[in-house]
Amino acid sequence: MTTRVAEGCRKAFTTVIKCKAAVAWEPGKPLTIQDVDVAPPKVHEVRIKIVATGVCHTDWEYLYESGKGMKSRPFPLVLGHEAAGIVESVGPEVTKFSPGDKVIPLFLPQCGECERCRSPKTNQCRKNWANMQLGVMADGTSRISYKNQQLYQFLGVSSFSQYTVVPDTSLTKIRCDAPLDKVCLLGCGVSTGYGAAVKTAKVEKDSSCAVFGLGAVGLAAVMGCQVAGAKRIIGVDINPDKFEKARVFGATECINPRDHEKAIQEVLVEKTGGGVDYALECVGSPVIMNAALESTAEAWGTCVIAGWTETETMNIMVEKILMGRTLKGTYFGGWKSVEDVPKLVDDYMNKKLKLDEFITHNLTLDQINVAFDLLKSGKSIRTVISL
Ligand code: NAD
Ligand code: ZN
Ligand code: ZN
Repeated sequence: MTTRVAEGCRKAFTTVIKCKAAVAWEPGKPLTIQDVDVAPPKVHEVRIKIVATGVCHTDWEYLYESGKGMKSRPFPLVLGHEAAGIVESVGPEVTKFSPGDKVIPLFLPQCGECERCRSPKTNQCRKNWANMQLGVMADGTSRISYKNQQLYQFLGVSSFSQYTVVPDTSLTKIRCDAPLDKVCLLGCGVSTGYGAAVKTAKVEKDSSCAVFGLGAVGLAAVMGCQVAGAKRIIGVDINPDKFEKARVFGATECINPRDHEKAIQEVLVEKTGGGVDYALECVGSPVIMNAALESTAEAWGTCVIAGWTETETMNIMVEKILMGRTLKGTYFGGWKSVEDVPKLVDDYMNKKLKLDEFITHNLTLDQINVAFDLLKSGKSIRTVISL
């Protein structure tokens, strides 16, 4: 009897799924839609049907800025890391997931066992980390291929594919009534910006805040400042079209640095009589990171960097730190991914957290390059792609 069950399971595990994926064949070139093969999940892996995926600035950066401030990634690559889906099948030794579960894949794992997972000080679990950064699973290979050619998996996720396989420590189960075309945003941008404010900066009631960059990450940071009870929330962006949305999320005022002759940090220090309590950088530029740090108040100002760049350096005037400012970075908003994302889904379902307002466009997978254009031209906040 036991043998028969085991044989049945083994059979199920051998089925390759043929589906569509958007493939990045080389850096700097638009994605192309291909028929790909998605291999069955191996030990401690889960194959999921992606229902919806957001398009994040980081996807764009790895494609178009590869090698320019970003480490080069192996190509061909299937991008996408902000998604929600349904478990299709599970590999051997998977105990926490079953077919039909609604899930959010996680580019940051939470194994629950390592030293970092056991510490309340960090969310930076490193389970399968080196392999995921190289675009492969624990056994050193990817589960997605095109005509037998391996396609690398972006950050261990690859949600620009109708099906993908992820490690069971890079996946979280969410409530079954959650709308996947909305909660997909909790897989990256919204969780990152919101957590940057409430978890990493720990914004306090009645404080003053400045948020640099009003894309999805920045708007979520604005929302976090508001939820934390900040009195003054200043949105900063060079695209004034973002200001109306920023007010919806709680910005009390908005500034375009290009409207001022003085450096933006000087404008903010003057405006606030000494600097803001918290500054959140959500652009990904070392120059703006510096401006954010210098816009915080002496003695207790905190600057949190959420914007992404990997190989560039910041040039900090040491005195700024000596005089009591704190500079921190945040990865995925400081959330312990597996345990916290379902709570954020609950917060959305209980109307404590906005998601719908981030979605400016809904497109299909074959329109993925349009979604990149909309993001880069500043016309979208988030496009949700339905697969
Ligand atoms: P986005 O492109 O939607 O938004 C960026 C915003 O910055 C735009 O509104 C743009 O007009 C604005 N901007 C550009 N130059 C500016 C300047 N000089 N001053 C002020 N504003 C300026 O991007 P997004 O998806 O919101 O992502 C923002 C950043 O966060 C990216 O660098 C992304 O890679 C990063 N990110 C980090 C994490 C993390 O875990 N830390 C997670 C997700 C995204
Ligand atoms: Zn992202
Ligand atoms: Zn861990």
